[in-house]
Amino acid sequence: MNPHVDDARSLVNALTCDVEDYFQVSALAPHFPRSGWDGTPCRVEANVDRILALMDAAGAKGTFFTLGWIAERYPALVRRIAEAGHEIASHGYGHERASDQSPEAFLCDIRLAKAILEDITGLEVRGYRAPSFSVGLSNPWAHDCIQAAGYVYSSSVYPVRHDHYGVPDAPRFTYPVGNSLVEIPITTVRRFGRNWPVGGGGYFRLLPYGVSAWGIRQVNAGDRKPAIFYFHPWELDPGQPVVLEASAKTRFRHYVNLERTEARFTRLLNDFAWGRMDEVFLSGDTPSA
Ligand SMILES: [Zn+2]
Repeated sequence: MNPHVDDARSLVNALTCDVEDYFQVSALAPHFPRSGWDGTPCRVEANVDRILALMDAAGAKGTFFTLGWIAERYPALVRRIAEAGHEIASHGYGHERASDQSPEAFLCDIRLAKAILEDITGLEVRGYRAPSFSVGLSNPWAHDCIQAAGYVYSSSVYPVRHDHYGVPDAPRFTYPVGNSLVEIPITTVRRFGRNWPVGGGGYFRLLPYGVSAWGIRQVNAGDRKPAIFYFHPWELDPGQPVVLEASAKTRFRHYVNLERTEARFTRLLNDFAWGRMDEVFLSGDTPSA
């Protein structure tokens, strides 16, 4: 082991990618009706291939929460991700928020995605992440469905206050939500009586890199827990078409600093040790770098 590796590298954190294309993002949904998805040129394959190369160069492993809709169209991509040693998990089939569906429709969606992904890789899919972290107080049945569909863990709750998602008082670390299911929430830092998001997404692009790095170190050194970081392939793609009709807030959140994200992401890959959700959280002992 490198003697110069600092404390922050003493824990392996979980790197997670939600595999969807730019036109499937919930905030842009009004501008990309589902009926038009099939005719919209995809950018996800090239973006994921670039991410796989960056992760390979850094020796990082991770979990790819993949949409069934994408997997059906790009099965070879799903196999490449798995063959590179990453975990394939499920992001559902059609990227509808759990909170917008009936329990029956939700169960159908997450069962279908699991079956498609398992058919492609021949491996059990154990993890599920709801689109837009849409499991919360309004749909307590969602965890029952996730367990009924045969998943072992969910990473669908973000214990923060946000206008589109979040359960501010949810536990910050892994907790049981059924006989055979655990919820593994996205990472937050606890300060001033509330939880602050440090686990990726728009915050990673909007705030200086040091904020995310500080947050991960706080969780590793202060809480002695692994962190979860999440991102999307389109966040490393400044060449994606811009939706000028979207609101100023949506445009800001979606497009801010896209051109800087790849360099930032590469730095993140090299500053911490990264592993798969199943290996970081389900293997019993917390792995060390
Ligand atoms: Zn998503």
